[in-house]
Amino acid sequence: MQVEKQGQDLKAMDGKYVWHHMKGAEPTPGAMVIKNGQGAWITDVDGNRFLDGMSGLWCVNVGYGRTELAEAAYEQLKELPYAPLTNSHIPAIKLAEKLNEWLGGDYVIFFSNSGSDANEAAFKIARQYHQQKGEHGRYKFISRYRGYHGNSMGALSATGQAQRKYKYEPLAPGFLHVSPPDSYRNPEDESGEKSAAEIERTITWEMSETVAAVIMEPIITGGGILMPPDGYMKRVKEICEKNGVLLISDEVICGFGRTGKKFGFMNYDVKPDIVTMAKGITSAYLPLSATAVKREIYEAYIGSGVYDRFRHVNTFGGNPAACAVALKNIEIYENEKLIERSKELGLRFLQEFEDIKSHPNVGDVRGKGLLVGIELVEDKLTKLPIELSKINKVIASCKEKGLIIGKNGDTVAGFNNILTLAPPLSITEEDFAFIIATVKRTLAEL
Ligand code: PMP
Repeated sequence: MQVEKQGQDLKAMDGKYVWHHMKGAEPTPGAMVIKNGQGAWITDVDGNRFLDGMSGLWCVNVGYGRTELAEAAYEQLKELPYAPLTNSHIPAIKLAEKLNEWLGGDYVIFFSNSGSDANEAAFKIARQYHQQKGEHGRYKFISRYRGYHGNSMGALSATGQAQRKYKYEPLAPGFLHVSPPDSYRNPEDESGEKSAAEIERTITWEMSETVAAVIMEPIITGGGILMPPDGYMKRVKEICEKNGVLLISDEVICGFGRTGKKFGFMNYDVKPDIVTMAKGITSAYLPLSATAVKREIYEAYIGSGVYDRFRHVNTFGGNPAACAVALKNIEIYENEKLIERSKELGLRFLQEFEDIKSHPNVGDVRGKGLLVGIELVEDKLTKLPIELSKINKVIASCKEKGLIIGKNGDTVAGFNNILTLAPPLSITEEDFAFIIATVKRTLAEL
């Protein structure tokens, strides 16, 4: 009774004072006020428990309640809470070395606070890199429709989802978009050559001398778990190299084991020029992001004078406590073999979901690692996306049964029809079985 009362008061205050992300000014009735978490489970202020099948926003990769991460932050905050990275500090140095090892070398790391920040840094590094080399005309970026790269003006410009952008235009000039590969809707592009050719054509028609970089997620995540053909990213890298264009891999979601490898690009036998990462770097225990650049890009800045050094700074980027948490978090991935576990569980998810493919509304089941998408359709032949009200009902019904599951895609394009799962990589066998059973039971009710 007491808990309930407290919950009601908090929700009333929440409706009054907190502007929720992605929401208008309605007092968001029914917003979940989360109190605590343990493992893959979260508990709200009313005492309801849910298995967080989305790891928050695809980020709490090692699960909730890791006291060793809290301790790492506490110890570092006592030792040194802050030092700007115009100087340096021990956790940043150790973390940069560790990230370089995870990336397979040879990268130099620029720290920031969020995925958007990491991408903004990447854009500026890429543009100036070309200038350092005397190629002053290379300023354009190519990205894909349905991809998401962040909320700030540059990262939003690179984003390929109109509904997130149209109210805030004009955005930054110089951002171009091409179609993403989509193995479900465009199965004829089996090799990825067709989609890659669109990038090549865009570079050619825009004049390669004006293009700075291509940015892509290895697998489009928020846009609806779009699986590329295996050869696609490698082909894009070849096209980039041929044209003097950099390849930026946005690993904000795909990094840190989400796709069953340390980084998503590692599934596709490529080595990006720049790698951006956030979320899983600290499992979201503290804000931190990084832009990893190949050494030769960094070295193009050698000898820059006062006016042409990389003039980019952010006060909180690479905060010592955040770096200490990231180091401890990486230790957890390694000690508990969570990358391998993500790969294995991902395969098992696809096996377990094999039988839901015969459901009349399930168009496709796909994924890699603990990144799973179930595309719901009205009709398997036409692949017409399922009505929004129906997919919303599935999500609500899962929640009633104690499972939080996501919905992704692209509203404007009419593809807001992909159920998504991205649970913590540390889920137990019991959690795994619960997710499978709950999703199956809910779909059977559809
Ligand atoms: N890139 C990708 C692929 C993302 O999914 C996100 C966030 N969901 C971002 C960038 C932006 O990250 P942040 O919200 O930390 O700014």
